[in-house]
Amino acid sequence: MSSVDTTIQLIRTGKTEGETCSPALADGPWVFDLQAAPSYGPGSSMGDVIPTGTPRQGQIPEEYRTASNEELDARILAAKATLGDRVVVLGHFYQRDEVVKYADFVGDSFQLANAAQSRHDVEAIVFCGVHFMAETADILARPGQSVILPNLAAGCSMADMADIDSVEEAWEQLEALYGTEPDADGRVPVIPVTYMNSSAALKGFCGEHGGIVCTSSNASTVLEWAFERGQRVLFFPDQHLGRNTAKAMGIPLERMPMWNPRRPLGGNDVAGLEEAQVILWHGFCSVHKRFSVDQIDKARADFPGVRVLVHPECPMAVVDAADAAGSTDFIGKAIAAATEATTFAIGTEINMVNRLAAEYPQHTIFSLDPVICPCSTMYRIHPGYLAWVLEALVRGEVLNQITVTDEVAVPARVALERMLAAKPGTTAAQVVGD
Ligand code: SF4
Repeated sequence: MSSVDTTIQLIRTGKTEGETCSPALADGPWVFDLQAAPSYGPGSSMGDVIPTGTPRQGQIPEEYRTASNEELDARILAAKATLGDRVVVLGHFYQRDEVVKYADFVGDSFQLANAAQSRHDVEAIVFCGVHFMAETADILARPGQSVILPNLAAGCSMADMADIDSVEEAWEQLEALYGTEPDADGRVPVIPVTYMNSSAALKGFCGEHGGIVCTSSNASTVLEWAFERGQRVLFFPDQHLGRNTAKAMGIPLERMPMWNPRRPLGGNDVAGLEEAQVILWHGFCSVHKRFSVDQIDKARADFPGVRVLVHPECPMAVVDAADAAGSTDFIGKAIAAATEATTFAIGTEINMVNRLAAEYPQHTIFSLDPVICPCSTMYRIHPGYLAWVLEALVRGEVLNQITVTDEVAVPARVALERMLAAKPGTTAAQVVGD
């Protein structure tokens, strides 16, 4: 099966049928890195509003922008060979194949953070993922190690939907409404819970305010942990993961108000907030928002017996209509466990779906979304950037280092450790994120 990049090029040149959400996907990310108004670039998040102050990537030298794929391949391999055990390259499941092939570890965000933590022997960790993942790796890295993000503009539109100022403002309003005194059972009025897909500042906020981090595979365990200690939860930034998880735990939808940070009391009235059990931040993933019940209906009509597996970042109606919902790790394991030839329709990022299809040729595996529209921010990592940062390391230069200050890293680590402790017997390798 062709990689997503190759397929996009073939569609653009009319050599194959198919549709992409933007023809600009076939261009190098450096075309967008210099735009006067920064954007997430072509792909699923291209319609999202990018916050002011989002990190930008300066222009990389022309030699990397104009090099052929073959030249970049030779240069990356040569740099990796020279650096040897001094460097580890990590690649997220959602990365393009053209980047993932150089990764020493491939996984979801938390698996990669654990991979980083398990490689305290290396000088530098080159993280082919997005900004919050590199931050988490830095929180867990040993002092003196460098974590490098090959393109600084590789953020995450969902993580950007909850910034520390808006969350602190929401917290002030909630404290003014609920007070800070525990009830007769010792439960505080509200516990903050942040998804792994959030900035280090928000993980630090949770660490400081009795809160915790969750992933897409342990969200219900984490909510249970939170309800043992609090009367209600403020869940950010992904409304869908929060809603899908709370609904599966039996919490009624009317007790899950949405918090819109641009409106007083998040757009709620006092009575609604007093009844609330989970207050959902108004955030979402534009990759997973693309999946619809219509697509599931079509898959079922076209392929009777199809198994529909979706990620819990998808809207509730999609999760309800699917056969199962779970993290990237869950989806991979569900396919690996199928002993009979099976047709799977998958609701998660296209690069991962294509890779699963190539890995399991005995099954028919396809994306629920017929339009090729990768995660815009993951797509900002291109082999040209990887060659650029690796060759700099060979010269002794560290480019694009991601550093989390101790002021943030210390409480963020507390929130991460609470998550690990929330499930007795959980090992780091079993905990997964986006
Ligand atoms: S897939 Fe969604 S949540 Fe994951 S990095 Fe891309 S925008 Fe962020």
